[in-house]
Amino acid sequence: MATLTLNHLLDLIKKYHPDADLDLVKLTYEYSCQAHSGQKRKTGENYIIHPLGTACILAEMKVNIPVIIAALLHDVPEDTPVTMEEIEKEFGKDIAGMVAGVTKLGHVKYRGVERYIENLRKMFVAMAQDLRVIIIKFADRLNNLESLHSLPPDKQKRIAQETLEIYTPIANRLGMGELKGRMEDAAFAYLYPEAFQKINTLISRQQKIQEKYIQKIKRIANHELSKNNIHAVSIHGRAKRLYSLFRKLEEKGGDISKVYDLIAVRIIVETIGDCYATLGLLHNIWRPIKGRIKDYIAQPKPNGYRSLHTTVFCEDNEIVEFQIRTQRIHEEAEYGVAAYWHYDEKGSLRPDPRLKWVSELTKWRRELDQNIKHLEEMKIDILQTRIFVFTPQGDVIDLPDGATPIDFAYHIHTDVGNKCAGALINDQIANLNTSLKNGDVIEIILDKNRKTPNPDWLKLAKTNVAKNKIRNSLKTKRNHTTTSLLNKFKLSN
Ligand code: MN
Repeated sequence: MATLTLNHLLDLIKKYHPDADLDLVKLTYEYSCQAHSGQKRKTGENYIIHPLGTACILAEMKVNIPVIIAALLHDVPEDTPVTMEEIEKEFGKDIAGMVAGVTKLGHVKYRGVERYIENLRKMFVAMAQDLRVIIIKFADRLNNLESLHSLPPDKQKRIAQETLEIYTPIANRLGMGELKGRMEDAAFAYLYPEAFQKINTLISRQQKIQEKYIQKIKRIANHELSKNNIHAVSIHGRAKRLYSLFRKLEEKGGDISKVYDLIAVRIIVETIGDCYATLGLLHNIWRPIKGRIKDYIAQPKPNGYRSLHTTVFCEDNEIVEFQIRTQRIHEEAEYGVAAYWHYDEKGSLRPDPRLKWVSELTKWRRELDQNIKHLEEMKIDILQTRIFVFTPQGDVIDLPDGATPIDFAYHIHTDVGNKCAGALINDQIANLNTSLKNGDVIEIILDKNRKTPNPDWLKLAKTNVAKNKIRNSLKTKRNHTTTSLLNKFKLSN
């Protein structure tokens, strides 16, 4: 790989922000170079390559200039004689605030669970204060992951694991799909090297076969759209991420024929109206698969993700997923909360599910400080991979991966759980042991006469909330039974 240069960063910025004050970027780069002069990375390169690389990752996400400036400076107070006060004097309060935030996230000296708690706590604090700090920290982590090869294996594993336990779940909740995917794949390579190699080979073989096929689909789709006066900004095949395929294959027992989004094509159009029109046109030429049409534009996922999805029997009867969105929606889906600091827009925040989640986190953080004991449970229930499913009324229920209709029912209400007789998933009757999937609409069928849960449900429930409610209801029932037996006994005596 060619060595990273300042010009590369400037070119990235010019592409999305032609009027940016590039002199300021150049000056900051010089300043950071000087501060870090003489320092080397473990890879042997000059240290400046790291803050520069971090700034480039952010420029790819089209963040505005202050965030880029803070990224160039993010390791200065930690690793050089330059102080926070000097940075504030040179660059002002706003930028110094971000740099201080990233610095505070810096080192954690604990091990094991304490390390985890401390990391999480610091992330929450930073998030509550300034979300831009988290975005810089993610870019910093990604750049470090991409040069992990020069570190000893135990350190590689620790950083990779921490990334998958803390960083990527938070990135996911903030809707930062692109950064999450890149961090996951980089960590995957170090945490499960053999599986990584296997999946890598599988995907590159698949890609060669697919290239021609996707070209063909693109031609057909393009023709169909322009015939109907819809301008496609772009149509491209999206390669499935390695770690995401690894997880999906595990879920499907290794059967790649059950992975329906292996071939996915993204269509970017100009307006939301065009999105729906495109969906209709696609269904007109290729038959959609039942239950796989998802309107995340009308009902965004709780992490803010918007897009239209459909899976169709495409050319040669291959199964292909289409994702349809506008350019603006596309950038939001890729960059999540970072899209707020796009271009030169001031971070004017409109109500958004991602930010609601941040305020919830802040609440949890306060509870966490008060009661460290809940940590293990929190780690299991909250940062675990989450799925988002809907009630028939469109309310979102947020559950851990692998949750079943039983979890869903008890999350709505204890009575709904206790009276549960069956479930409809996307209008189809489903077993109570079915693992729910993102975007599923669940309706619980109630049996009014039922009063107590089936003890077997304890095995089907995945969340502690549902398990506790089942246990409590069973206990109450047992007490009732004992009392009535006693009464009978008394009576007969
Ligand atoms: Mn750094």
